[in-house]
Amino acid sequence: MRRAKIVCTLGPASDDRGTIRELADAGMAVARLNASHGTHADRAEVIDRIHAVDAAVDDPLSSMLDLQGPEVRTAEIDDPIDLPTDATVRFVEGDTATPEEVGLSYAISTVEPGDTVLLDDGRIETRVEAVDGDVVTARVVSGGELGSRKGVNIPGVDLDLDVVTDRDRRDIEVAVEGDADFVAASFVRDADDVYEVTDAIENAGGDIPVVSKIERAGAVDNIDEIVEASYGVMVARGDLGVECPLEHVPMVQKRIIHSAQDAGVPVITATEMLDSMVHSRRPTRAEASDVANAVLDGTDAVMLSGETAIGDHPVRVVETMDRIVREVERSDEYAETREGRVPPAAEGSQTEALARAARFLARDLGAAAIVAVSESGYTARTTAKFRPGVPVVATTPRDRVRRQLALSWGVDPQYAAYREDIEGMIDAAVDTAIEAGAVESGDTVVVLSGMMTELEGTNTTNMLKVHVASETVATGRSVARGRVAGPVFRCPDGDLSDAPDGAIVVLPATFDGEFAGDTGRIGGIVDARPGMTSYAAMVARERGVPMISGAPLPDDVADGATVTLHADRGIVYEGDVTPREHQR
Ligand code: ATP
Ligand code: MG
Ligand code: MG
Repeated sequence: MRRAKIVCTLGPASDDRGTIRELADAGMAVARLNASHGTHADRAEVIDRIHAVDAAVDDPLSSMLDLQGPEVRTAEIDDPIDLPTDATVRFVEGDTATPEEVGLSYAISTVEPGDTVLLDDGRIETRVEAVDGDVVTARVVSGGELGSRKGVNIPGVDLDLDVVTDRDRRDIEVAVEGDADFVAASFVRDADDVYEVTDAIENAGGDIPVVSKIERAGAVDNIDEIVEASYGVMVARGDLGVECPLEHVPMVQKRIIHSAQDAGVPVITATEMLDSMVHSRRPTRAEASDVANAVLDGTDAVMLSGETAIGDHPVRVVETMDRIVREVERSDEYAETREGRVPPAAEGSQTEALARAARFLARDLGAAAIVAVSESGYTARTTAKFRPGVPVVATTPRDRVRRQLALSWGVDPQYAAYREDIEGMIDAAVDTAIEAGAVESGDTVVVLSGMMTELEGTNTTNMLKVHVASETVATGRSVARGRVAGPVFRCPDGDLSDAPDGAIVVLPATFDGEFAGDTGRIGGIVDARPGMTSYAAMVARERGVPMISGAPLPDDVADGATVTLHADRGIVYEGDVTPREHQR
């Protein structure tokens, strides 16, 4: 299993049902829609498509609607226009787009002469010369071609736009109606901005977690409070590299990832990760290194933007990213940084202390997985915070939580229905992990449960348990108690001469004879016929070996295969699931 997740921006190159499905099969865990492009109706439709694909595939696929936020964009145009160096250009609010006058989505009249206005992620640089009402005149310092709806950045100038615009409110309605899994908030400055977005979602009748995009210099200064106020964060390197000096981006990325991990908050590293693959079939070496380094930094997810939204081969990009990430995750260097950077548990938090303990328990016991039984997803995310060396299989009875956990590092989210007691929840969770192929019968698993709903048999919400996963192959009634593992020996006629030592003797319903040969070889008896008083039952009691009756063993359990007879419970399990200390 890959630990770091892949987020893909959908766009004209990828938002049809077939391509979404192919992207999911290639490893996309979160599909992002950028509200800066397209229409509200388009987005509503694509969100439905994403959820339809989620329902059709095994792994969860979640949807993220990325709000435009207080962003200034240039007007929509059909053909790029040329803005040559040293030319003079007027910025106005509106739809015009000529080399002399460029329309913007908002007036930028709070700028002053001398301020820098950057277009298209800083590719075109202009300097303000005069401000006359809403008309701003600027000189092109570094020219270039301007395309449609490109971003405008004015570093250090507060344009006094609300963090949630009217257009954003319409998108929030789309997200709420379509049951989107995440809303990404653009250009937040501090925790209050995040709360404002959360409020707007609540006012629209929704309860959608907010992923805050860190793309302003000011947001970097307030990173801790933003992380605390958010479900997740995104290192939005595109605008970040324009709003603050480019050379700050690499270290800012590392700091944001560490702050988020320390808080147990999922973090996405975004923008230009494999940018050359918009057109080219292979990434540059530098891009491959960039993806690898983000994974080494500990990011929960890596994101694709134009590569999948408008690129020539979106699926191939995801496959390439998948391979790069897996290669890192296989390396000793990665294991070393992961082991070396286990954050402390937050003081006073039971869940954190247990999740951290589970991480080390899993390692020291050689467990196959940590199974996190999680209602809200909190226990699973907290487990991921400590970056365990084994998969975190998270079972949850809530479908939305299952999808949302798709964003979290190392989490393999699975649906498991409510059971009435905690033992039932745990058994169901482990069964789910077996069915998902994450765990095999006989594997040791560390189970962590954080159910909020009161269940029978527990008055505590947190529980940690070491468990041997076991798959039931037959059930019946206990005749003689005990628990034993051994090889299956089918014995239709009572002849024990070929029985291996410690055999689990399996009797068919037709058996009504007696044993011939050494009954000392019998480790346990599984009788297809019901009843407590048969000849075999007598032998079992006499010899003190466990036995169950009324338990036909399916034909697909091979002769010689190891099973565990747990006669007290009346169950035959696949494999050896006797407690380790009792194993021979
Ligand atoms: P942001 O800075 O908010 O992340 P962006 O403009 O840099 O936004 P991305 O979401 O990263 O854009 O997508 C990359 C490019 O893909 C965009 O510049 C745009 O050209 C294109 N794109 C994305 N979504 C769409 C869409 N729904 N329709 C048309 N083009 C799109
Ligand atoms: Mg944006
Ligand atoms: Mg961008």
